[in-house]
Amino acid sequence: QVKISNLNKTFHRGKEAVHVLRDISLEIAQGELLVLLGPSGCGKTTLLRCLVGLEKPGQGRVELGDTTVVDADARVFVQPNKRDVAMVFQNYALWPHMKVAANVAYPLKARKMKDELKNGRVHEVLQVVQCDHLADRYPPELSGGQQQRISLARALAPRPALLLLDEPLSNLDALLRIELRAQLRLLHRELGFTGVYVTHDQEEALALGTRVAVMKEGQFEQIGPPAEVYSFPATEYVADFLGARN
Ligand code: ATP
Repeated sequence: QVKISNLNKTFHRGKEAVHVLRDISLEIAQGELLVLLGPSGCGKTTLLRCLVGLEKPGQGRVELGDTTVVDADARVFVQPNKRDVAMVFQNYALWPHMKVAANVAYPLKARKMKDELKNGRVHEVLQVVQCDHLADRYPPELSGGQQQRISLARALAPRPALLLLDEPLSNLDALLRIELRAQLRLLHRELGFTGVYVTHDQEEALALGTRVAVMKEGQFEQIGPPAEVYSFPATEYVADFLGARN
């Protein structure tokens, strides 16, 4: 379970201050795949970066299960590599000089696992994303879809308490996006991981999310199950964004 309380983040550019996250509070239940939906610049990526630890919020707290990973007031800040959180990026972010298997094994490096167990885990997650046959290849030799499956396998390998996905399909062509979206949905059903999925694609949000959080200027405009947000938009903004009108 994830608990975000009163999270605030302001960026300073010279004399200008941009208040990007405005007092965000949210609880994400175990096994939930929450989709953050909103236009460019509304703060989706910044929220993920605060959860994974790449950004320090000015105020607020984040709890992951029993662990407080951020508490601005108490000056608690757990470094990204010490958090049980994995992130999948839009541009895959794989090491080009390492074989696929080594890329997937990378987050297991720091763990005290026997080599046999590590290898077993690597092949297990590669099978899950249907890429075990690519284990000895290098990422630049692979298609975008294959690279994104590998980066998903790498994120899943340590079985993180929280999986963050930042527009993972947006660099892929439309057909592949739909195929991978369906596979992600199945994977989520099978593995039951807890995740936050960022997108600005309405269809993707409605197809994937167990709940959808519509964001506007650093705040949530509405949070609910996809069917509810789609059929009963709370504001004009949500209605416009999801294209449904009652
Ligand atoms: P997109 O869909 O385009 O990725 P987003 O909703 O993920 O957008 P963010 O990337 O979180 O939006 O950015 C929110 C705002 O914060 C933007 O106005 C952006 O310019 C600003 N911002 C993000 N990172 C920084 C930074 N390091 N320094 C200054 N401003 C930043």
